[in-house]
Amino acid sequence: MTIEVQQYDAIVVGGGGAGLRAALQLSAGGLNVAVLSKVFPTRSHTVAAQGGIAAALGNLGEDNWHWHMYDTIKGSDYLGDQDAIEFMCKNAAEAIYELEHFGMPFDRLDNGKIFQRPFGGMTQQYGLQPVSRTCAVADRTGHAMLHTLYQRNVHVKTQFLIEWFALDLMRDEEGDVLGVTALEIETGKVVALHAKATLFATGGAGRIFHASTNAFINTGDGLGMAARADIPLQDMEFWQFHPTGVAGVGVLITEGVRGEGGYLINSEGERFMERYAPHAKDLASRDVVSRAIATEIKQGRGVGAGKQAVLLKLDHLTEKVIQARLPGIRNIAIKFANVDPVYDPIPVVPTAHYMMGGIPTNLDGQVIASGKPVRGFYAVGECACVSVHGANRLGSNSLLDLMVFGRAAGNHMVKSVSGTSHKPLPKDFAERTVARLSRLDGQKSGESVTEVGETMRKTMQVHCGVFRFPELMVQGVEKIMQVAERVQNLAIKDKSLVFNTARIEALELDNLVEVAKATMVAAAARQESRGAHCREDFPQRNDQQWLKHSIYHSSGNRMEYTPVRLQPLTVDSFPLVARTY
Ligand SMILES: Cc1cc2nc3c(=O)[nH]c(=O)nc-3n(C[C@H](O)[C@H](O)[C@H](O)COP(=O)(O)OP(=O)(O)OC[C@H]3O[C@@H](n4cnc5c(N)ncnc54)[C@H](O)[C@@H]3O)c2cc1C
Repeated sequence: MTIEVQQYDAIVVGGGGAGLRAALQLSAGGLNVAVLSKVFPTRSHTVAAQGGIAAALGNLGEDNWHWHMYDTIKGSDYLGDQDAIEFMCKNAAEAIYELEHFGMPFDRLDNGKIFQRPFGGMTQQYGLQPVSRTCAVADRTGHAMLHTLYQRNVHVKTQFLIEWFALDLMRDEEGDVLGVTALEIETGKVVALHAKATLFATGGAGRIFHASTNAFINTGDGLGMAARADIPLQDMEFWQFHPTGVAGVGVLITEGVRGEGGYLINSEGERFMERYAPHAKDLASRDVVSRAIATEIKQGRGVGAGKQAVLLKLDHLTEKVIQARLPGIRNIAIKFANVDPVYDPIPVVPTAHYMMGGIPTNLDGQVIASGKPVRGFYAVGECACVSVHGANRLGSNSLLDLMVFGRAAGNHMVKSVSGTSHKPLPKDFAERTVARLSRLDGQKSGESVTEVGETMRKTMQVHCGVFRFPELMVQGVEKIMQVAERVQNLAIKDKSLVFNTARIEALELDNLVEVAKATMVAAAARQESRGAHCREDFPQRNDQQWLKHSIYHSSGNRMEYTPVRLQPLTVDSFPLVARTY
């Protein structure tokens, strides 16, 4: 197989919020940049973000970035790096004003300032009372953001390789990253994209679970590519289960509903969050609310088929407010739950939503392996772990993460690439890709992609959910290793299907299984409960032994651990205390 080579200064894999924000910086900085995306950029999962983006603007009551920093550290259950969190919270207001000036149509207050709503874990005065900190465009914030960024990129002439699928990283013998190999989905052509700097912004991997709020395209491709190229993955045991996915369907009902005054009730009509989080109630952080719902269900106070859900009540907000602030939610509830929330509550259940872990980076988005930056390689957004979310992300901090670190990575790439030339590609630059494709294409008999994928998703759902049990995790590791073996023997029986879709699904499963392995192994290894990782046999946080990041190496399924950075950049460190809401 001979492979065409195309050269760019920089390659961005991913056209979601993170990729587009970084690309804007790169194109504006004069680089020749290509953004490749397996779907049209404005269909990336960022488009589905509903509730909003956090920044301490103080438009509805006093606020400042130091309070936001405190809330984020506490939300992370102290696993977040305090320097990164300071950087993000301090730069948040500027990120919002930048978006505003790009043309993002934020909702407004009567005085013309940007509207803000309360969100879980966001408070005034270091936890004293909830604050309105989340800027929104009704319940379609991601949609507005992604379209705004796409338009800006068109304006600065960013090049797009649309419906191209990145296959593998290219590294030379010194370990430097020189770009990616990629498949043009429509034609099946394989091309090497040779770059001075490569940024991964490939988003999440929620599709390792059976029930997920994530789009079908969220298959962790960046993590799979990184793992295969000997880049470790960080904090993979930490998965956020969003408290309110539509029961039985998984589609998200934004936390903005509770921000606007909606609340959860059980089968007895009781507002049960008052028992679990007397102070913050329904606006406690997500791990706390999800565990409360799971407990209510376990104790028989669920509703609906098999009593496997609870109810989210918002009819008291009035039709006018629902129509103005939550129109998309009303639509989703009518279409997917068959209830109109203006009159009836929505049945909801905790659903896999967000990956706190990812490819480890520093504050400039440079990927870190063995304690130092990998030359030429960057990661931003949900696929990266910088780490601002630690063991549990606060709602509306992800969109902020994309903007702040997308910009920072773009700036660093412009500086590091300027005046340099391309390093030569090694002789075997496409070997791995050719081997993978021929493994798939050469199979006449073998495993079905759908069946193996389903086994993986069900295994993760049962063995690595909201509550984690020791025996189930041990079995889960075994089962996922068996799935990984089976993935090596996939066959594409319906290869004649148009547009390489069967091939893409097989390649995606290659990536998903890397994420599932990392998650399962890291979860079984961490013997404490912290944030979203909640073990039945180790119910307490254990700072003495486990205040550390976990680093997973795919080869040999090896774990190692690195310290949490407790020292912020310019302010005092927030000391570790018990976390209550
Ligand atoms: C339903 C939902 C609602 C949410 N609401 C909020 C919210 O209100 N506020 C908030 O802060 N967060 C929210 N989140 C989380 C947040 O939206 C995501 O974490 C964030 O948008 C991820 O952005 P990203 O740029 O990292 O990735 P994405 O937007 O997922 O983009 C990934 C990109 O990578 C490309 N890609 C992936 N693999 C390949 C490949 N192999 N080859 C080529 N291209 C590839 C895709 O085509 C896509 O363009 C929500 C998430 C969900 C699922």
